[in-house]
Amino acid sequence: MTTANLLDFDLDGLAAFCEQLGEKRFRATQLFRWIHQRGAAEFADMTDLAKSLREKLATRASIGSPHIIRQSISSDGSIKWLFDMGAGDAVEAVFIPEQDRGTLCISSQAGCVVGCTFCSTGHQGFSRNLSVGEIVGQLWFAEHFLRKHLGSAERVISNVVLMGMGEPLLNYDNVVKALRVMLDDHAYGLSRRRVTVSTSGVVPMIDQLGVDCPVALAVSLHASNDTLRDQLVPLNRKYSIAEVLQACRRYLTPAPRDFVTFEYCMLDGVNDSAQHAAELVALVRQGNKDGNWCKFNLIPFNPFPASGLTRSPTERIVAFAKILSDAGIVTTVRKTRGDDIDAACGQLAGEVKDITNVAKRMGRRRTIAITPVGQGGVSLSEGAIRG
Ligand code: SAH
Ligand code: SF4
Repeated sequence: MTTANLLDFDLDGLAAFCEQLGEKRFRATQLFRWIHQRGAAEFADMTDLAKSLREKLATRASIGSPHIIRQSISSDGSIKWLFDMGAGDAVEAVFIPEQDRGTLCISSQAGCVVGCTFCSTGHQGFSRNLSVGEIVGQLWFAEHFLRKHLGSAERVISNVVLMGMGEPLLNYDNVVKALRVMLDDHAYGLSRRRVTVSTSGVVPMIDQLGVDCPVALAVSLHASNDTLRDQLVPLNRKYSIAEVLQACRRYLTPAPRDFVTFEYCMLDGVNDSAQHAAELVALVRQGNKDGNWCKFNLIPFNPFPASGLTRSPTERIVAFAKILSDAGIVTTVRKTRGDDIDAACGQLAGEVKDITNVAKRMGRRRTIAITPVGQGGVSLSEGAIRG
C-alpha cells in the first residue's frame, strides 16, 4: 500500500484524507498542528491522538520532508541547505536572519525553464516541478531545525520568499497549496504581506494568484525595454513588459500590499545606464499614474563564472537608484547576503538533471555531481567543476 506524505496536504486535503480513514475534521486540525506548529515527525509523539489512530496513521501515512545533503553557514549568519529531491535532483533554501525578522528563501522547481542569462539556476536547465510536500518541507525543516538549534519556543521564520530555484508561477497548483499551508493559522500562520512570490512575469498566473491566494508580489523586470528584456528574460518574448506591467496594476486590487516590487539585477554595461533608469521612470508612469504603485529593489548582480557578466560598480548603482528616487519611486538596493557560501540571489544552483537541454544550449559545463553513498545519504563528488 502506498503511504501518503502528509506534508503534501493543505488543511482541506488533510481533512479529506482523514475522512477516508473514518476520522472527523477536527482530527485533521490536530494533526496539522502537530506537524507544522510542533514539528512532529513521528505519529507516536502525538499523544493526544487515540493510540488506534496513531497506529493507523503509521501504516497509511508519513511526514516526509526532503533530506539534507549539505548545510553551509555564512559569516553573516545566513544558512544554506541543499536538499536531496531524489533521482539526481537537489535544490537549495537559504535562511537570512535580520534584527526584526527571519526570512527563508525557498525553491519551487528543480531547475527552471525560463533560462535568464544572469541566473545560475537558469543556466542549469529544468528537471521537474517540486511537489507541495517538497516546497512545504523546506519550511518545515528549516523552522523546526532552527527552533531546536536556537532553543526557541517562538517562531523563528517570519517571512518566506519564493526566490530560490525555479519559476513559482510555472508550478502554480503546488505553489498555491504550499502558500495555503504557510498562511494557515493552524500551521505557520504567516501574514500574506510576509510571504512573497517572485516571478519573471507569467501574466495569466499573476491574475490567477490574485484570485486564489493573493500574497506579496515581486516581479523580475531587469530591463527597461522589450529588446533588452527579450535577451535577459526570454519569457518576455511571450509576455511583453507592457503586459507584465498591466498585470501588476491589476494585482494591486487583491494584493495584501499597496505596491508591487520590481526586482532589477544590476549588470555592468548591460542595463545600468542613466538612459535605462529614465526609461523605467517613463514605464511606471504610463497610464497617468505616479510612481508610487511600485517599488524598485536593485539587486547587485551576483556573479557566477558561466554567465560572462559582471556586477555594476557601486557608484553606478547609486546613481541609478537616485534617478528612480528623484522621480518619486521608492527604491532600495538589496544587501548581498550569504555570498561567501554562494547563497546570494541567483547563485542557488543545487543540482538538476536537465531534461530540456537548456544548459547545453547556454554553453554550461557540468556542476557538482551527487553520488549516492548507501543509506546514509549522498555525498558530493569532486570530479565535476562549476562554471
Ligand atoms: N523565478 C523567479 C524567482 C527566483 S529568482 C524570478 O525570476 O523572479 C529570484 C530573484 O533573483 C529574481 O529577481 C532573479 O531575477 C534574481 N537573480 C537571478 N540571478 C541573479 C544573479 N546572478 N544575481 C542577482 N540576482 C539574480
Ligand atoms: Fe528562472 Fe527566475 Fe532564474 Fe529566470 S531568474 S532563470 S525565472 S529562476
